[in-house]
Amino acid sequence: MVLPDQLPKNYDFAVVEERWRNTWRDEDHYFLRNSNKPQFVIDTPPPYPTGNFHIGNALNWCYIDFFARYKRMKGYNVMFPQGWDCHGLPTEVKVEELNHITKNDVSREEFRRLCRELTIKNIGQMRITLRKMAFSTDWSNEYITMMPEYYAKTQLSFLRMLTNGYIYQSEHPVNYCTRCETAIAFAEVAYEDRKTQLNYFDFDGIEIATTRPELLAACVAVAVHPDDERYHALKGTTKKVPLFLHEVPVVLDEAVDPAFGSGAVMICTFGDKQDVHWWKQHQLALRKAIDRTGRMTEIAGKYAGLNTTECRDRILTDMKEKQILKRQEDLEQRVGTCWRCKTPIEILSERQWFVKIKPAEILDAAHQIKWYPEHMLLRMENWVEQMEWDWCISRQRVFATPIPVWFCKKCGEMVVPGEKDLPVDPTLVQPKHACPKCGANDFSAEEDVLDTWMDSSISVLNVTGWDGSGTPKCFPAQIRPQGHDIIRTWAFYTILRAVALTGQIPWEEILVNGMVLGEDGFKMSKSRGNIIVPEEILVKYGADALRQWGAMGAATGSDIMFNWNDVVSASRFQTKMWNIAKFVLIQLAKGGYDKEAPVTALADRWLLVRLSDTIRTVNNAMEHYQFDTALKAIREFAWDVLADNYIELVKGRLYTHDASRKSACLVLHTAYDALCRMLAPFTPYFAEECFSYLNCGSVHKQPWVAFTYDDDEARKEGDLLVKVVAEVRKYKHDQGLALNAPLGKVTVYAPLTAHDEGDTGRTLNAAVHWRTDAAKLDRVVTGIDFNRAVIGPKFRKQAQAFMSAIKALSPEELAHPPKTIQLDGADVEVPEDAFAPNYSYMEEGAKVDVVTIGDVIVTIAK
Ligand SMILES: [Zn+2]
Ligand SMILES: [Zn+2]
Repeated sequence: MVLPDQLPKNYDFAVVEERWRNTWRDEDHYFLRNSNKPQFVIDTPPPYPTGNFHIGNALNWCYIDFFARYKRMKGYNVMFPQGWDCHGLPTEVKVEELNHITKNDVSREEFRRLCRELTIKNIGQMRITLRKMAFSTDWSNEYITMMPEYYAKTQLSFLRMLTNGYIYQSEHPVNYCTRCETAIAFAEVAYEDRKTQLNYFDFDGIEIATTRPELLAACVAVAVHPDDERYHALKGTTKKVPLFLHEVPVVLDEAVDPAFGSGAVMICTFGDKQDVHWWKQHQLALRKAIDRTGRMTEIAGKYAGLNTTECRDRILTDMKEKQILKRQEDLEQRVGTCWRCKTPIEILSERQWFVKIKPAEILDAAHQIKWYPEHMLLRMENWVEQMEWDWCISRQRVFATPIPVWFCKKCGEMVVPGEKDLPVDPTLVQPKHACPKCGANDFSAEEDVLDTWMDSSISVLNVTGWDGSGTPKCFPAQIRPQGHDIIRTWAFYTILRAVALTGQIPWEEILVNGMVLGEDGFKMSKSRGNIIVPEEILVKYGADALRQWGAMGAATGSDIMFNWNDVVSASRFQTKMWNIAKFVLIQLAKGGYDKEAPVTALADRWLLVRLSDTIRTVNNAMEHYQFDTALKAIREFAWDVLADNYIELVKGRLYTHDASRKSACLVLHTAYDALCRMLAPFTPYFAEECFSYLNCGSVHKQPWVAFTYDDDEARKEGDLLVKVVAEVRKYKHDQGLALNAPLGKVTVYAPLTAHDEGDTGRTLNAAVHWRTDAAKLDRVVTGIDFNRAVIGPKFRKQAQAFMSAIKALSPEELAHPPKTIQLDGADVEVPEDAFAPNYSYMEEGAKVDVVTIGDVIVTIAK
């Protein structure tokens, strides 16, 4: 046992956290492939290696670490892997920025090398933050999606889904960013409000309004509502597109709003999703007016080569000149933009690769998974139900998993590599065999690459050991923790892929966390200047305080506003808890701790009951991922029950040499040990430091606390005991007495007698008697308080006379004053709040003060 003088006075998180970080070993968190313990595999989100582990990540990882540590203590074989989702646009854009190049200025290989280099550097920085935060990562299960061993699996999954019909290629309209020159998925389209102009112009005799005159070259039809009588004559006719002069049919469609403008609209390939819908519905021609770089194509005639903005201006000028532009109106519009670069997206028809979406299959799987919180399942349902297009998985970029496909130059046959030859980059190597269809040996490589979600949506297959040879032993995983912002992407794609590749759900449970908002309540952003980085909190208050904020900030699934006050109060709790630790350790160091000692005193039994209650609450909360409830219960027990009530009650006993001192020592030890274990998932450094003084090894290798204690009598009597002490202490305070001042005789009249082993007496510094009979008290009026603010204005010159008359009343009359009183021979009304009698109480002939607590009466004879 540590001697009291060896305990640091203050808890220095910086020193303690670094010391334990250097002591702990990675191996302690490894998942054991051949263990007999039940498995608990976590499908950790692989963050994008930006170099900064942001506060939203921190919250997400706090949740993961809370239950990873808890499950380990509960006897599970836990896998808490760490992945890095490397591919994608942000890194490409960053590399272009840093090197002042575009992807086309260097070879694909060189560009990839630059991206890999930046990614490795960024991962290194983020690993440091993960370690500082004390996340119990299983570093033996780290994966990096850009590494050949990982993307070989992505390619294998592609080939499997190509074989089983989930993946196909086709020419189809897709969302396209002409700045990034790549297709993007619907989930990657961001929406922005922008101002634009609605242009009304004469379209071969009909008025049409458009926000995008530059699409005139791509006009393929004019649509009107079938019931719109104004246009009945136009049925089956064609119209000439202004400026371009090609003929387009007039089609009838229920979706046209006859009340909007003239009731006629033009259909272009493609202005928006509605155009795509009409284009399919009416089997219209395809006119590609905009190319992949955002410039007008040959079919735009004299406008070819212009970008869309230039083209729009020129067309409007030409319309004015031809006097067909009738008027222009300002319009607020929601525009779909590229999530990365904010360029408005175009809908272009391109040959792309797609994954088939089978809504029923995904919904069925989603319903077999347990969602925390439950209502997040709704978001998945809504998303699946509104799916209209398949998932476009091809991208026209460089830093991504290559699509492992070639095409025979002679006959066009698609050729794929053997599974054992993966990974391959078809742009660097040729197929090992001649074309199976025509025998030719000349191939062109598929240059498109895969959407990064194709990498990350097999994270769970990767960590469970999927290699295509069957369903892995540890599949499915037990849990997927993630943010609600990526339900429609990561959760959706993972379920889709797991079902397509294994026919099973990917995980048994999904835990969804909220977003972290800035202190001003808004989403954190550079422009608002409200970004808080974890490193800043770590330096000021340490990891444990930050982790407590993560637990307490909000209910699981709700958005959390970052608040420095929460971090400060977390750090205050550690200070309080450290004071408790010092007190307990000093008492235990004096000797007297005996784990066989009988627990006799009421206060001791009461504390054990309250501890047992707390453990039950915390257990239940941890099982349901309610970290705020769990930590709140722990804090309240430590602060209110243990420190403010129990320790105050037994302090006196602990300084004696009574036999009951042993009972208190055992209780202190039990509570302290349990607190360390329950705090271990939340504040791993602090709990380890506190527990280390018990000389029982690392708290993180202990089983979860299993202590239970039932004693209803102790709960009732103990609650009373605590209330009496608190109220009498309050009385002392109100009387201006020091808390340790002697108080004479205190008698407690209560329906039950507390066998308190003298704790109440020592705590109050009084002779305390517990009695179950009724108190026999005589009430004596000792004076009267007059309310001069009422009496003055009401009685004026008669005020003195009024007060004398009141003083002359009997005690009974004072208790129930008459309505009127005689004053100078006249009846005057007695105002309601004119006076109040003062009482004092006599008990057995001696004056006492009385404190009432419900039906309990406490008399104090000083
Ligand atoms: Zn873009
Ligand atoms: Zn061929």
